[in-house]
Amino acid sequence: MSADTERLFLALWPGEGVRRQLADLVSACHAQVRGRPVAPDKLHITLAFLGELPPTAATAVSACVDGLPILNAQLCLDRVGYWPRNGIVWAGSREVDPALGSFAADLRARLARLGFRVERREFSPHVTLLRRVRQRPRLPSPRIDWPVTGIALVRSKLEPTGSRYEVVRCWGE
Ligand code: ATP
Ligand code: MG
Repeated sequence: MSADTERLFLALWPGEGVRRQLADLVSACHAQVRGRPVAPDKLHITLAFLGELPPTAATAVSACVDGLPILNAQLCLDRVGYWPRNGIVWAGSREVDPALGSFAADLRARLARLGFRVERREFSPHVTLLRRVRQRPRLPSPRIDWPVTGIALVRSKLEPTGSRYEVVRCWGE
């Protein structure tokens, strides 16, 4: 991978209040287990990861999202999970608003029709909180209400200090 590589993804991008609550949850987890916390300004939920693409791709992705209605859904993050196979601690929901699931499916289908390679697995919304964790954190269930009123196209650039995210465009919000 070269230094000027850039990856694109579509995401649910939290507003300030939700972001602060997520950052507090990261701290609570990190007080319990070792690992690499996700920086507050990078917390998000990936809707569709598009991979490494030439800079011109952002225009095609934008046009694709322009054809969709604005997303309005209710998200309640009420559980913290741990995936031992990749060492990730995440926040997610016990139940997902069907409006969000169908939006993600529709979005991915449209992107696939345009030739983008998107995940085929069913959308399972989660916020990555910590990486490189070797032990399941034990915490009381969180309750973060996240009114979802739009989505963001984000660019992820690999830099010497790690990847840096940059919001390219937002819809709704
Ligand atoms: P880095 O990989 O440099 O440590 P990062 O994982 O934060 O940083 P990206 O790899 O660009 O940055 O990922 C951006 C978002 O897309 C993250 O939410 C990541 O989990 C998700 N993602 C990355 N690769 C894939 C993939 N192959 N399939 C699905 N989602 C992915
Ligand atoms: Mg990554």
